[in-house]
Amino acid sequence: MLDTYYHSIRFDDSTCHGCMACMRVCPTQAIRIRHKRAVMLEDRCIDCGECIKSCTRNAVVPLTESMANLAKFDCTVAIPSPALYTQFDGDVTPGVILQALRNSGFTDAATLSWSCGAVTQAIELFVAAYRGPRPLISSFCPSVVRLVQVKYPELVDQLLPILSPREVAAREAKLKASSDTGLPPDRIGAVYVTPCPAKMVSIVDHPGMDRSYIDSAVGISELFPLLAPAIREVQTSGQKVAETETAAGLGWAFSINLPSSLPAEDTLSVWGLPNVLRILDDIDKGKLHRYTFVECHACFEGCVSGALTVENPYVARARALRLGQSLPRRDIVSGPELQARHARGDFATTAPFAPRPPRPLGRDIVGAIAKMQERDRLLDRLPGIDCGACGAPTCAAFAEDVVIGEAEEAQCVFVRQGRLEDAVRRLSEGPDRLRQAGPRAVGEPS
Ligand code: SF4
Ligand code: SF4
Repeated sequence: MLDTYYHSIRFDDSTCHGCMACMRVCPTQAIRIRHKRAVMLEDRCIDCGECIKSCTRNAVVPLTESMANLAKFDCTVAIPSPALYTQFDGDVTPGVILQALRNSGFTDAATLSWSCGAVTQAIELFVAAYRGPRPLISSFCPSVVRLVQVKYPELVDQLLPILSPREVAAREAKLKASSDTGLPPDRIGAVYVTPCPAKMVSIVDHPGMDRSYIDSAVGISELFPLLAPAIREVQTSGQKVAETETAAGLGWAFSINLPSSLPAEDTLSVWGLPNVLRILDDIDKGKLHRYTFVECHACFEGCVSGALTVENPYVARARALRLGQSLPRRDIVSGPELQARHARGDFATTAPFAPRPPRPLGRDIVGAIAKMQERDRLLDRLPGIDCGACGAPTCAAFAEDVVIGEAEEAQCVFVRQGRLEDAVRRLSEGPDRLRQAGPRAVGEPS
């Protein structure tokens, strides 16, 4: 198991004022407020970006690449998430956006349409031959993958071992750029234009892969101010652009497009982390083995509501549906060719998904059980109202922090108040009584 964690966000101490908004929305209880500032518990964060969306002071900073850093490559190919096509007013077509990317400094820009079609067929072929534990869980949302690794480590073998369309697209784009330019593939930078910080983590940590084919990721929100004028320029110049994106490719902006050959009654599509958590709980309890495939998205409307998008996700979704009607629906992947490539393992992940459970409470089982009992005893003494004043999202999380030495019991205002009342009462009973008794927590019998 890896013991270091790469994360694609950081908290900016100079702007955070410890308001707790991020702590309250974090789905994995990975944030604490310490000394009036937010801090991350690295072994719990799944890089979902919910904290970015909740912070009104922009104190949660995404660690994607800056455009200025892309000069390190001899040649750069932009690979936009389909969510990018939904961000511009006036229903700008994907062809115009791809051309604007080329005019903005990228050597080329490639779509995900071929890889989306190829991956969809690869899923069908894989599922038809699959005989392992069910259901399979989609592995294309990096936050969902990390959630499984962290919170449901026993389910890692049910993560779908098929590469994501963005990885397939990056590999194919680099091969094409290498053949076009004569440069070796390692001098070509495949840059994903990402709607969320979690994709950056999948590049650095590359779960299920020996290495990622993507070299870098730039957030849609970082690129937007540069791209909007470049788009207007393409539109006003009358420059002819080819439309290479398809309706199927665009569909991945807000759903994974469940393979049509899988019976609808045997598949589930789940959106939003609270719902994903419920479904993973049910899978963990063995309740859903009648289903073949479960598609999970951390964000409520899919990638169009990622933390690095700029458009209202509902507007973006409607725009994607409108654009999809005007784009070709053709199947761009030929069956026999695809089957041969699938048989060669062209779309298969290259490494197992490794579990990454949070650090245990104790060094061994006996120590962990003792700490759990200590935690439960403390929890009984706490008020159970999850006020957050101690800097933890719940009383249970606070009790755990105390037993592992990350917090002091007296950080709970109710414990402090109980001790104060106790001391005042004992003082009023006389100095002898005060000397006899030690401090007591709230709810402890006197
Ligand atoms: S939401 Fe979190 S990061 Fe932002 S100011 Fe409040 S405590 Fe700090
Ligand atoms: S990215 Fe998600 S899991 Fe990580 S600290 Fe923020 S809200 Fe919590």
